[in-house]
Amino acid sequence: GDMKRGIVIKDDWPGYSLDLFTYPEHYHHDIENVYIPHGIIMDRIERLARYVMDDFEDSKIVVLCVLKGGYKFCSDLVEFIKILGRSSNRYLETRVEFIRLKSYLVGKLVLNDQSTEDLHIIGSSDLSFLRGKSVLVVEAIVDTGKTMMALLKHVETFGPKMVKVAGLLVKRVSNMAGSLTDYVGFEIPNRFVVGYALDYNEYFRDLNVTHLNISRTSKKIGFL
Ligand code: 5GP
Repeated sequence: GDMKRGIVIKDDWPGYSLDLFTYPEHYHHDIENVYIPHGIIMDRIERLARYVMDDFEDSKIVVLCVLKGGYKFCSDLVEFIKILGRSSNRYLETRVEFIRLKSYLVGKLVLNDQSTEDLHIIGSSDLSFLRGKSVLVVEAIVDTGKTMMALLKHVETFGPKMVKVAGLLVKRVSNMAGSLTDYVGFEIPNRFVVGYALDYNEYFRDLNVTHLNISRTSKKIGFL
């Protein structure tokens, strides 16, 4: 249903004018507009935290954060889970673990010796700490869903008790992306976005407040 799609951003959404917000001078030439303001992102993450609290029955979960892009989303989501726990007196203990997947440029995965078929893991691929645990996979963006599909296959081999996926942004490109993601922050058009820890060749991660949109052809970026 619609609730599963999260906040739906339409294809023709132009974003907000840059002049309405502050943004770093060094990105001045690459940025066109603000796509999703930081405040809306935070409000939405608070709601996702509530879904998580409602769904997980265990008092402990393992949060598997997909680096690098997922680090801000993960940290904000876990923070809201803690706040909700304190205010509802039903504390959900969160153990945070990290997995780093390699992607380059527009996020197509490359392979190396650590890979399991089409998943490239940097560092240890041993996730045996997931055995018997309730797991929340936290990923900033799901595009085609291929990365998530491969990651979930890998996660399942370690015998977790249950696995749910939180994706802040899910692109409206494939049915797979949406169906793999249990908690969707925003459903967005098929455009390249940066900011809020999402990068373009390591650039733009430090744009705290917004997402940006990069046109793959012109390299001109606009706030998403
Ligand atoms: P998928 O396998 O779902 O097609 O791609 C997932 C990965 O591609 C994400 O983990 C992310 O690293 C990268 N990616 C896909 N779309 C975008 C985007 O719009 N912006 C950024 N920064 N990375 C993206």
